[in-house]
Amino acid sequence: MRWDGLRLETGEGGQGETTPLFARSAVARTFDTPEFRGVTFYEIHARSIINRVPSASRVPFEWTINPYRGCTHACTYCFARRTHEYLDLDSGRDFDSKIVVKVNAPDLVRRELAAPRWGGHPVAMGTNVDCYQRAEGRYRLMPGILTALRDARNPFSILTKGSLILRDLALLAEAAEVTDVSTAVSIGFTDESLWRTVEPGTPSPRKRLEVCATLNEHGIPCGVLMAPILPYLGDSPRALETTVRRIAETGATHVTPIVLHLRPGAREWFMAWLSREHPRLVPRYLELYGRGAYAPKAYQERIGQAVRALAREHGIGRSAPRGTRAGQRPGERPAPPPAPAAAPEQLTLL
Ligand code: SF4
Repeated sequence: MRWDGLRLETGEGGQGETTPLFARSAVARTFDTPEFRGVTFYEIHARSIINRVPSASRVPFEWTINPYRGCTHACTYCFARRTHEYLDLDSGRDFDSKIVVKVNAPDLVRRELAAPRWGGHPVAMGTNVDCYQRAEGRYRLMPGILTALRDARNPFSILTKGSLILRDLALLAEAAEVTDVSTAVSIGFTDESLWRTVEPGTPSPRKRLEVCATLNEHGIPCGVLMAPILPYLGDSPRALETTVRRIAETGATHVTPIVLHLRPGAREWFMAWLSREHPRLVPRYLELYGRGAYAPKAYQERIGQAVRALAREHGIGRSAPRGTRAGQRPGERPAPPPAPAAAPEQLTLL
């Protein structure tokens, strides 16, 4: 590991001063339980935790909190994979099994929210890797983070595939009483055989739908990032109809479709999976993604229109007014900031 040498550029335009990325070197830890077999956790003390998104990023949020790096949910298409290479780890198996844990995240959040220079901006979580991945069951960083956000009455949003978010339901409801809270789960398809191979470490789509329904039932607005929609695997009219119908049944506040994109890091890992599991589709994917990370615009628009039409047909967004807080009557308070559900470029398609 070369983490002691990792440095963060702090000078203007990335020039000039640098500071060490982590306050101390990492402590490596393994746990001999079935859920963590083969996984190594690197416990580190981060220097800062509320990070500003680079201004060039076209995303609907400006500030993020990411208590983990790497993700045992192990989605083959995850584009956060490449960020593991900055740590001298690989973007494939290492990303799934070598997890960096910022053990001081809750303390840092509280401290940074209290700093006079902090402007109370909305904070997005789950935008790089999943903050409710399995590690969170053991490290329990999110309760401290949510408590700090609640106490500071700081608005926030969470995007996740993890059912573990329900452990923090009471805290989320308390926060939603005093500030703007929104959540989103990502569910690109509901086919369970596809799920088992392409998102092997995640809770099932059925479980994620239940999470969305439970959050909405408890007055915590939850929508669905329908992502990624996988060409030729999850994009048939029947697959889209089934997925959108089941999303509608959860009372989802909105559904945002995003077609798979394949950036370096994710691309190699995903294409290796495709070659193993669906070799006949490789030429068709090369046709779609041969020129870059994104499927052709016409394809994306066709899928987007189909999902939006289905969402209208199934009344998504009609029954549960977006932005309704716990205990809030429709129209009583302003809507919260949207969960990170648009502008796919910087999202990991949780
Ligand atoms: S897409 Fe999200 S849930 Fe899946 S591995 Fe990446 S960060 Fe984890």
